[in-house]
Amino acid sequence: MKNTGDQQLVKRINRSLILRLLRKPAALQTGLSRAQLAKASGLTKSTVSLLVLDLLQEGWLMEGDLSNEASRGRPSTPLRMDTTRKALIGVEVAVDSVRVVGVSLIGSVLCTRNEPLTNASPSDACKQVAKMTAGVHKDLLKRGMQLHGVGVGVPGAFDTATGRLSFAPNLGWRDIDFVPLITKAFARTGMPAVPVFVQNEADTSALSEYEFANNNANDSLIFVTCGVGVGAGIVLNDRLFTGVQGMAGEIGHSILQIGGAQCSCGRRGCAETFFGERVLSKMDDPSMGGKYLGLVLHNLWTTFNPGTLVVGGSSCVRYPSMVDVASKALAAYANSAGITPAPKVRTASYGILAAAVGAAALVLHQEQLFFK
Ligand SMILES: [Zn+2]
Repeated sequence: MKNTGDQQLVKRINRSLILRLLRKPAALQTGLSRAQLAKASGLTKSTVSLLVLDLLQEGWLMEGDLSNEASRGRPSTPLRMDTTRKALIGVEVAVDSVRVVGVSLIGSVLCTRNEPLTNASPSDACKQVAKMTAGVHKDLLKRGMQLHGVGVGVPGAFDTATGRLSFAPNLGWRDIDFVPLITKAFARTGMPAVPVFVQNEADTSALSEYEFANNNANDSLIFVTCGVGVGAGIVLNDRLFTGVQGMAGEIGHSILQIGGAQCSCGRRGCAETFFGERVLSKMDDPSMGGKYLGLVLHNLWTTFNPGTLVVGGSSCVRYPSMVDVASKALAAYANSAGITPAPKVRTASYGILAAAVGAAALVLHQEQLFFK
């Protein structure tokens, strides 16, 4: 019986490999033939053909020129991700709002809903999320699309090993058994029982860039999100790096000043007390918060030396000059050390939707767990 299990695992890895190759920017434009997929994946042509047959039938892929029936099934006919049949839903639970998006398999945003968070207790928040998600699911059904999975981004440290939300200081949540809570809330709305994945919202934001906007499997990427909370999503070696308790990238609570201002987490002098949104909103010139964002970006850069640095979140949308100040500060640090060119910082491709779109990308990212 073990052989059967191994064969299923191998099949799953190979399927993920093919889907990954077809989500690369170049393949989105022109598609890849079975022969090209075999070459790029290292699989035999017959294995690729069998896998592609399943993926076409299940609605993952589409084939060739829709007007040319005769071209289908040939080794040279290009295959593409099918953007018309399967859809994903991404949810961002923010400190003061809930955002839900329906997206295609390549990250095109199809529908969105956004509401203030009406009650921050975990069970009430889950009820509101479920109701809004069921609404987006209805929108997708009207488009004739089938829901494949739901991802949820939360403003705190999520421990993937236990499925518990260990710490969300800005919501006042500690050690919440979140996955059963949200799954039951979805079930009560009558939604289909699809896979549900949860992760920190800075991590999901990083996946919006990594899986959809900048799908370069050889890259490392750090996404710094600046809102009420400040956090970083870190992708290393093709995987999210979340740490032992899911706290990796909690840079909002890295301490910039010993004995500084009181932070929501209980410590003093955390980065959030310098450029968290509640602090920025009280400043005469919020762009000056960018000096501290630049300092944090510099420290992340010296620690990880990532291929790509992205900044996003509501503060970067509200105070774009803060990003300019941060980029200049980072460049000045690099210049002082004689390192040229200075690392580039770019803003989030999906803007304010990054965490929600990335939560949808989390579904694909987690299903690729065995790839690599
Ligand atoms: Zn703190």
